[in-house]
Amino acid sequence: MDSESVDFLIIGSGVAGLRAAIELAPFGDVLVVTKDKPSESSTEYAQGGIAAVMSDEDTVGIHQEDTLKAGDGLCREDAVKTLVEEGPERIMELISWGAEFDREGLKLALTLEAAHSKRRILHAHGDSTGKELERVLLSKARSFPSVRKYPFAYTIDLIINNGECHGAYVLRDNKVIALFAKATILATGGAGRLFSRTTNPFVATGDGMAIAVRAGAELEDMEFVQFHPTSLYYPAAPQFLLSESMRGEGAVLLNIKGQRFMDDYHAKAELAPRDVVSRAIISEMVKTASNHVYLDLRHLDKKFVKNRFPKINSTCLQYDIDITEDLIPVSPAAHYIMGGVRTNLDGESNIRGLYAAGEVACTGVHGANRLASNSLLEGLVYGARAGKAALNTKIKPERISGYNEEVSSISDIYEIRRSLRRTMWEKTGIIRCAKSLKQAETKLLLWKEITKQNFITRNELELKNMITVSFIIVESALLRKGSVGAHYRSDHKDRGANWQEHIKWDKAIFRS
Ligand SMILES: Cc1cc2nc3c(=O)[nH]c(=O)nc-3n(C[C@H](O)[C@H](O)[C@H](O)COP(=O)(O)OP(=O)(O)OC[C@H]3O[C@@H](n4cnc5c(N)ncnc54)[C@H](O)[C@@H]3O)c2cc1C
Repeated sequence: MDSESVDFLIIGSGVAGLRAAIELAPFGDVLVVTKDKPSESSTEYAQGGIAAVMSDEDTVGIHQEDTLKAGDGLCREDAVKTLVEEGPERIMELISWGAEFDREGLKLALTLEAAHSKRRILHAHGDSTGKELERVLLSKARSFPSVRKYPFAYTIDLIINNGECHGAYVLRDNKVIALFAKATILATGGAGRLFSRTTNPFVATGDGMAIAVRAGAELEDMEFVQFHPTSLYYPAAPQFLLSESMRGEGAVLLNIKGQRFMDDYHAKAELAPRDVVSRAIISEMVKTASNHVYLDLRHLDKKFVKNRFPKINSTCLQYDIDITEDLIPVSPAAHYIMGGVRTNLDGESNIRGLYAAGEVACTGVHGANRLASNSLLEGLVYGARAGKAALNTKIKPERISGYNEEVSSISDIYEIRRSLRRTMWEKTGIIRCAKSLKQAETKLLLWKEITKQNFITRNELELKNMITVSFIIVESALLRKGSVGAHYRSDHKDRGANWQEHIKWDKAIFRS
C-alpha cells in the first residue's frame, strides 16, 4: 500500500477544517483531504449568517443566555462561554482576511433570527454567507505553501495504533493510501443525508462520526437532530433551504387555507425556536391533510426582499416562484445534528492524537437544540482551538500496516440507501415514539452486516457509515424517554427521568 507522512492531517474542508489548517500552517506541513471538490460542504450552502456580538446594543452575556436557552438545559456552559467570547475576534480576523459582510453605511448590517434576543447575525451578499466564508478561508489557506489539498480523497478509517491515532486510510484514484500524521483533525461535517428530506448537500453522510466510533471514539447527544422548518417543497425543485432570516425580516407562515397559525403555538410566533415551528408546521399539515404550508413575503417591500435574498430569489424564480408575489410552498427537513464526537474545549477526543471540530464534533455548545447561526461560529472558534491544541501533540506515528484488504460489495446499494433515508425521515423524524423507533431499529438491523464489512467505493463506504450513524441515532432516541430540545417523543411528552444526563456511545454498540 502507498503511504505518506505529514505533520498534520485534516479531514474536511468546510469552515472548521480550513480554520484549523490556517492555525497549523505556520508550524508544519498540513494536508487537507476532502471527499469532493474542496468547496463542496455545508459551509458553502449556509445562507442566513453567522452570529456574534458586534454591536454596542448586544453583550456576550446575552448571546450566552440565548444559546443556553435554545440548548434547553443540555449545553456545556463553559463551551458556550468560550464560543461567544472568542466569536467576535474570529470574525474580525475573517474581515482582515478579506471577508465582505453586508453593511449599512459603514456599520455591519446585523439581522435577527429565531430565539436571538438581539440583532447579531452578520450576513454576506444577502443570503450567501457560507460561500463568502468558504471563499475567504480557502484563499487564506492557499496563501501558505505548507498547506496541501487532496480533493476527491475519501477517508475510509483512522489508523489506530496502541489506542493512539496515527493518521487515516484514504481512497484516492481508486487506491487506498495510508496517510500518517502526528495529529489528525476530523472536520467532516454533519449527517443530514440520513433523512430523505434534508437541506444538506450530498457530502453530509455522517462519515466522521462512523469513522470515529469504529476507532473507539465516544459519540454524544446523537438523538438531537435539528429539523429546519422551511425548505422548499416543490416536486421539480431541490429541497432548497429558505433561510430563517426571511422570518426574521417579517415573512409569515400560512397553512394551505391561507390562515396564519404560529400565534396559536408560541408567543414568539414565527420566531419561536426551530423545533417548535417545525412541529407546528407538521400539526397544520396533518390538520389540513397537506404535505406543505406556505411562507409569505408578499407584504414586504419587493426591492428590499430581492436585495436581501438574491440567491433564494433567483433559485425560486428558476421554478417559476416569485418570492415577492407568490406564496412559497415549504415543509420541514433535517438540517443539523447537535451530537457528534465528544471533545473537550480544545477539540480533543478520547483518543490521543485525534481531534474533532465543527458539525462532526460535540463540544456541548448546542445542547439539545442549536441556536440559529451558531454553527458557522462554532466551526471558526473550535476549528482554531483544535488547530492550536494539535500543535502540542506528542504522537510519533508508526508506519504500521493494519489495513484489512478483504473487500465486499453491495448489489442493491441504491435501494438500501433510499429505504434507509425514508425510514429515518418517517420513523425517527420530527415526532418520534417507541413504536416508530423500534420499527426503524428492525429495519436497520437487516443491514447491520454491512457495517462490519470493507468496501472500496465511495457509495458503498458512505452507505456503511449511514447505517452505523442511523443506528446510533435510533438507539439514542429510544434511550431518551422524554422530550428535550429537538428530540420530541409523542409517547413521553415531559422531560423524563434523569433528562440532564447525556447519552454516549462507543464501539461497544457493534458487539451486540
Ligand atoms: C443549506 C444550509 C444552510 C445553513 N445555514 C447556516 C447559517 O446560515 N448559519 C450557520 O451558522 N449555519 C448554517 N448551516 C449549518 C452550517 O453550514 C454547518 O453546520 C457548518 O458549515 C459545518 O461546517 P463543517 O466545517 O463542520 O462541515 P462542512 O462544511 O459540511 O464540511 C465537511 C467537509 O468534510 C468533507 N468530508 C466528509 N466526509 C468525508 C470523508 N469521508 N473523507 C473526506 N472528506 C470528507 C466534505 O467533503 C467537506 O469538505 C447551514 C447548513 C445548510 C446545509
